[in-house]
This record gives sequence, C-alpha cells and structure tokens, in this order.
Amino acid sequence: MKIAFIGLGNMGGGMAANLVKAGHQVRAFDLAAEALDRAKGNGCEVFTTVQGAVQGVDAVVSMLPNGAIVEKVFSDDIIGHAPTSALLLDCSTIDVATARLVEEAAAKAGYAMVDAPVSGGIAAANGGTLTFMVGGTDAAFARAEAVLQPMAKAVIHAGASGSGQVAKMCNNMLLAIHMIGTCEALALAEKAGLDPQKFFEISSKSTGYCWSLNDYTPAPGIGAASPADNGYQGGFASALMLKDLRLAMAGAQSSGATVPLGKHATEIYEKFVEAGNGGKDFGAIFTTL
Ligand code: NAD
Repeated sequence: MKIAFIGLGNMGGGMAANLVKAGHQVRAFDLAAEALDRAKGNGCEVFTTVQGAVQGVDAVVSMLPNGAIVEKVFSDDIIGHAPTSALLLDCSTIDVATARLVEEAAAKAGYAMVDAPVSGGIAAANGGTLTFMVGGTDAAFARAEAVLQPMAKAVIHAGASGSGQVAKMCNNMLLAIHMIGTCEALALAEKAGLDPQKFFEISSKSTGYCWSLNDYTPAPGIGAASPADNGYQGGFASALMLKDLRLAMAGAQSSGATVPLGKHATEIYEKFVEAGNGGKDFGAIFTTL
C-alpha cells in the first residue's frame, strides 16, 4: 500500500518505520527537519508539503499534537487533496467534538475516515505493540485494521465516529485516578509503619490490584520495574497525562457526565505540571505525598 504519514514525532516516527518494515511505501511529512531526517533513515520517502505527500495514496495516517492542528491539516491539506478512495486515519489524541467534526467534513467530501487513538507509549510505538481504539463505520474499520496491524498489539472497533477518542479519554482518566490512589496507598502504608514492599506483596494479590500498583509501581525499588526506579525519567510524561485529563474534562462537560475524581485528578496533575514537573513520568505524583 501507498501510505502518507503526517506527524513523525516521538510516536509517529516509530509507527511509520513499522509500516515500512511491513512492506508499505510510506510518504512522510513533518514540520520538523529532524523528524523527516529520521523518517528518511527509516526508509520513508519525505515530502516538503502535506499536499505532496498525500498524492495518489491508499491511506493517510496522522499522529499530531492536538485537535486544532488535526482540524487545520485535514481541512487545508488532506481533504480535497488525497484521492477520495484513500482511507483517512487520525491516530492523535484529540477531543471527541473535533474528531467528529473532521470525520463529518471528510465524509461530506466522499472519504471514509476513522479516529484511531492509541494506548502505549514510545516503546510500544517503536515496537509495533500499540493498542488502537477505532471509531468509524464497520466498512471503514475493516479497511483500517489492515493499515494499523503492523503497528499494533490489538486493534479494537470501539463504535461509531468519535468512539475511539471516547475510549481513550475514559481509559486515561481511569489511569490517572488509580495511579494517584496507588501513590496514596503506598505512602500511607509507609507512614503508618508498614514496609511498602510488604504492602505491595499483599495488595497486589488483594482487591487493591490494579495496573498502576502491579505493573508500574510508582515507588522506587518496590514491586514492578517502572520509571520510579530511574528518577521518573522516560515513561508517560505528566504533561501528556494532564493533556488527556483536560480532554476528559471537556468530554464530561459536553456530555453532562459527573466525574468528581476525574476533576480532582486533573487539579492534582495541573498543580504538579505547573510546579515544573511536566517532563517527569506521571507516577512521580508519589514524590508529592
Ligand atoms: P511529538 O510532539 O513528539 O510529535 C508530534 C509531531 O507532529 C512533531 O514531530 C511535530 O513537528 C509534528 N507536527 C506538528 N504540527 C504539524 C503540522 N501542522 N504538520 C505536520 N507535522 C506537524 O508528540 P508525540 O508524543 O509523538 O504525540 C503525538 C500524539 O500521540 C499526541 O496526540 C499524543 O497525545 C498522542 N500520544 C502520545 C503518547 C506518548 O507517550 N508520547 C502516547 C499515546 C498517545
């Protein structure tokens, strides 16, 4: 397949490389020269404009920072420039309303489009082990699966247009909440006189079981290996978690959902990021307790 890839940053760079490895012809565009150089080194053909990259392709994949950029790139340079036979896939994490707006504009112009945000960080993007949550019609999903498979551990059809972004915001709001809860429990155990390693051994086999405790233990030297063992470097940056929480809060407001713990988690990460900790892994909330 001929695939245009727009946005080859931390995530997109590795994803495009996996499409090349699977035998696809990948036509890359990014505003940053170093991203394009890396893409070229990974076997992509590089272009100086989005419009040039999308000429004659079978699919367009985007992995961009936010909804405003996605909206602009699709309306200015993809819709009306890629062939209408091309499947459009936006893998960025953006707000549900913008995802639906862009997909509606694409459908009006005759394209099939899906929102396909991912779970898994840079290591999963490089390793081709992302989980894709896909919103769109059954027919569009069937076509999307073939494009996403080389980058994926799992490709799941969430439902109609925008449903992938709904799944992503709910998943990451839940993740923030159980991460903060895990940090609080580990800190409380220690302060109240229980060895945190013992607490891990007990709670990881009890009803406190959750991914943050069992697989990503946020206290240094306790439980599973995680960025906590490396000064909270690498992993999932607190600034990105805050971005996802803000998307969830916007989604809660527009849908009328009540999310008191989600709101509180957002305030906690806001304070943490504003104090200059945006680059630290999101488990570093442990250090504030
Ligand atoms: P990044 O900043 O590393 O990459 C974004 C790339 O988009 C950059 O290379 C930038 O130059 C390029 N770009 C910006 N505007 C552009 C434009 N108008 N045209 C073309 N290229 C443009 O970000 P990332 O970490 O790769 O994240 C990308 C998306 O994936 C975000 O929506 C993010 O929320 C989501 N995501 C990230 C992670 C993660 O762990 N990093 C995990 C899951 C999802």
